[in-house]
Amino acid sequence: MKIYVIGLGPGGEEQMTLRAVRALEQCDCIAGYPLYLQLIDNLIVGKERIETPMKREVERCAAARDAALAGKTVAMVSSGDAGVYGMAGVMHEVCEAYPDIEIEVIPGVTAACAGAAVLGAPLIHDFAVISLSDLLTPWEKIEKRLCAAAEADFVICLYNPSSKKRADYLQRACDYILQYRAAETCCGTVHSIGREGEHGELCTLAELRDKKVDMFTTVIIGNSQTRVIHGKLVTPRGYKDV
Ligand code: SAH
Repeated sequence: MKIYVIGLGPGGEEQMTLRAVRALEQCDCIAGYPLYLQLIDNLIVGKERIETPMKREVERCAAARDAALAGKTVAMVSSGDAGVYGMAGVMHEVCEAYPDIEIEVIPGVTAACAGAAVLGAPLIHDFAVISLSDLLTPWEKIEKRLCAAAEADFVICLYNPSSKKRADYLQRACDYILQYRAAETCCGTVHSIGREGEHGELCTLAELRDKKVDMFTTVIIGNSQTRVIHGKLVTPRGYKDV
């Protein structure tokens, strides 16, 4: 009995790993959020699908587990990397009482790395990834992590920077970070990485505070050394003789 938990990368087929493509070929049944299944539509023609809407993740994993128990080889797909705000953890939890099910996690290119490549090379040094979604994490904890990362001069990558219900979260996050970081700190946003309409933009931390972004955006806030070189966001690695 086998379940693959597969990271699809940020968008198109060209950003998937070969290992992910090969694993999908092995499977009889593919589980995932409908938008992600749509992105790999031509790779899963004729395969059974388990689709449940957003916020029904546990249910989706249980359905995948039941398909595996019925003898099918199942893939649970996530965008980016399945182990970064994805389905890999919950799949292990849901199968805890079923040790005969083998779970193989196949890594993918996470939005932080794919987005960084669009902007230049901002993550070259220590960085912190923080999600602004308070669906599963209390806001006080998010606030604490933002402040700790800002104080320690990490490059900060924000996932889930906004949604209809959380329209001002990015603004609030920038206000915390501005307590420790200069208003001119170099930042960038990337929308729809690897998908139609991919768009990267550079700005200062002060400008980021007033920017409208949506949930298909990844935000990168530079550290105190990050600068712009020929329109690209670059964090120096520290080499002295360049
Ligand atoms: N497992 C995913 C992350 C899921 S959390 C990964 O590893 O990439 C969802 C958040 O990830 C979004 O709100 C956004 O901030 C970021 N994200 C995921 N895919 C993206 C894409 N194609 N373009 C821009 N941001 C993306």
